Amino acid sequence: MLTHNLGYPRMGNHRELKKACEGYWAGKIAAHQLEQTAQSIRLQNWQLQQDAGIDWIPCNDFSYYDQVLDTCLMTGAIPERFHPLVESNVAKLDLLFAMARGYQQNGHDITAMEMTKWFDTNYHYLVPEFRKNQQFTCFHNKVVREFLEAKQHKFQVKPVLLGPVSFLLLGKEKEQGFNRLSLLDNLLPVYFEVLKQLDDHKAYYIQFDEPCLSLDLSPQEQKAFTSTYQAIKSKFPQLQIILANYFECYGGNLQMVLQLPVHTIHLDLVRCPSQLGDILESELVRSKTHLSLGVVDGRNIWKNDYQQSLQLINTAMEKLGTDRIWIAPSCSLLHCPCDLDNETSMNPEIKQWLAFARQKLDEVVTLKQLAGVESFAVAEEKLLENTQCIEKRKTSTLIHNADVQTRVNALTEKDTQRNSSFKIRKGLQQANLQLPAYPTTTIGSFPQTTEIRSWRAKWKKKELSDEQYNELLKEVTKKAVSWQEDIGLDVLVHGEFERNDMVEYFGEQLAGFVFTENGWVQSYGSRCVKPPIIYGDVFRPEPMTVGWSSYAQSLTSKWMKGMLTGPVTILQWSFVRNDQPRSQTCAQIALAIRDEVLDLEKAGIRIIQIDEPAIREGLPLRKENWPQYLEWAVSAFRVAASGVQDDTQIHTHMCYSEFNDIIESIAAMDADVITIETSRSQMELLQAFADFNYPNDIGPGVYDIHSPRIPSRTEMIELIEKARAVIPAEQLWINPDCGLKTRGWKETEFALKEMVQAARELRELI
Ligand code: GLN
Ligand code: ZN
Repeated sequence: MLTHNLGYPRMGNHRELKKACEGYWAGKIAAHQLEQTAQSIRLQNWQLQQDAGIDWIPCNDFSYYDQVLDTCLMTGAIPERFHPLVESNVAKLDLLFAMARGYQQNGHDITAMEMTKWFDTNYHYLVPEFRKNQQFTCFHNKVVREFLEAKQHKFQVKPVLLGPVSFLLLGKEKEQGFNRLSLLDNLLPVYFEVLKQLDDHKAYYIQFDEPCLSLDLSPQEQKAFTSTYQAIKSKFPQLQIILANYFECYGGNLQMVLQLPVHTIHLDLVRCPSQLGDILESELVRSKTHLSLGVVDGRNIWKNDYQQSLQLINTAMEKLGTDRIWIAPSCSLLHCPCDLDNETSMNPEIKQWLAFARQKLDEVVTLKQLAGVESFAVAEEKLLENTQCIEKRKTSTLIHNADVQTRVNALTEKDTQRNSSFKIRKGLQQANLQLPAYPTTTIGSFPQTTEIRSWRAKWKKKELSDEQYNELLKEVTKKAVSWQEDIGLDVLVHGEFERNDMVEYFGEQLAGFVFTENGWVQSYGSRCVKPPIIYGDVFRPEPMTVGWSSYAQSLTSKWMKGMLTGPVTILQWSFVRNDQPRSQTCAQIALAIRDEVLDLEKAGIRIIQIDEPAIREGLPLRKENWPQYLEWAVSAFRVAASGVQDDTQIHTHMCYSEFNDIIESIAAMDADVITIETSRSQMELLQAFADFNYPNDIGPGVYDIHSPRIPSRTEMIELIEKARAVIPAEQLWINPDCGLKTRGWKETEFALKEMVQAARELRELI
């Protein structure tokens, strides 16, 4: 029995890579200094994996930016617009960053490659771009270099490659009339060349990540896997291929996968423990294949339950013996923070329930010891300790709150329903709110200036007292309110100046959440996030936003919109407890938000927005699981939103979303108004609402807030005209795409003034 790891966080314990990259981009450090930082992170990571006792350590899991982008460079899949850089011999490192971030230097002006979420994680990869008959070349031999680097330092490593089929499937066709899988024949020779070099240098195991196997695949896509791995096998019979899929079962792809001529099949037994039984039934597996049992959760931060993992391991051992089994994390540890030892101020009771990447390595090794007959004694004590710890967590009073559970269990259909239908509500709201046609509003945040962020930093360091900090915030809020009045917006916002982040702000005030000091996880490139940890039953000890919203409302006779983050988004952007279904945790958060909504209403706030930008990204990887998710997600939103009177208006907001395939669920959320991001797509995203005859009000964004560019009044009017062509004018609101926290005041002022004028001009035409 062997242990291996699929990948390790690459940022460094204290985000050294982030700092070095950003220093390099700013011209503050030289390329060789960045490379030095990168190398020391790699060596450290290998060392600590070796020290932990992992038998086969990954290499080429490191990346300056993203492993999919690395694969583009490896295979020479470099979009044409970057060719001038290749021709002028720009260093590969700079080319890589140019592809990731765009390039505006030396007379070039090249847009970056598109970025999108890596399966159901919050990690983003760069989307490969493919053209008809595209040729590939061995452009960059990073994998060989890192393999040799590890060997030179005497580490026993296995190179990790993004498999050719997933590489193609994860990309996009940039011209019509071909299927990117048709490029496989052109692409494979590059992989062969890389494998040949690795083989020449005596690589033994090669890990091929093929996470697209967690998706529903067409027969043609399945065939691509078969032919690819057969070709690899016939060229390199001596290489031992580990096929890694994670985040889901093999599902409908299983029968095909079992036939692949690979040495080892890796299983994510955290997401899908049930697949083990099916796989062990297979004659093929029983006779020759090795299984990598991904029992340690690479996606979450909870300590492994050894008893539970050992059950899975034992089941496999009964059929396969010990020699054909690997113990591993469920997926790359990229999605976990580095090291729990960096947390010094966390409640110690909670801390002992956790394991970050480094601790997970120990878990993998301990499980191997516990599963082995001879080594059991070495680890026996750890098993005892683990069992006690898991038991303690199950019964901890920190976690369990009977009132919360009773409340969730008592939820009924009625709690998810407004008193009256939208049609009736709309009349009552109009009578109450008296808004003009094409009402104007914004999505919530105004610029978070460096000044505001510096106040918060000082306040956290206690250099500013609560009173001083609040005074400063009140000051900017007041300015923002009177400015909104001046330019003539109809529904105002307080500006969210007091919020660091739309989830953290709520998590800090809700019971059941804990925060880390150093629990950073890579989101994209050098950007990391520090997700809150939901460890226990969630409730709201006291109002969270009522103070700021009432203060802001007291400054104006216009309507002030209350601003909340929705339950699904809070869930989606946190590490979630694994001892109850996510739906249950989501329902608890929904009740907490419902309490807040009702308190806002009581305080005289009659328009309340509940943001749900993450509803779409919570969708399961397999479509068959969508209905179940959508049902509880929509119901959580409705629980949060439905307590109010008919004439209180509920808004929701979503961005980065396509709506076609979930429009029914969006409609089922039954928000009185939904604002969405549409300006970049030129209102294309609105079509789904039109086709569905979406009945409630919609604010399609007319101002792309992700760009410093200010749209003109004419452009905005054109966009609204486009919207009006598909959605009746009575249903339309006018607003930007999203919050303005990343923008500067100057552009914001200019753009919003124009937006208000655009609305006025359109009203004239009615
Ligand atoms: N209300 C939030 C804001 O304006 C919404 C942010 C988001 O959708 N991501 O900042
Ligand atoms: Zn948004």
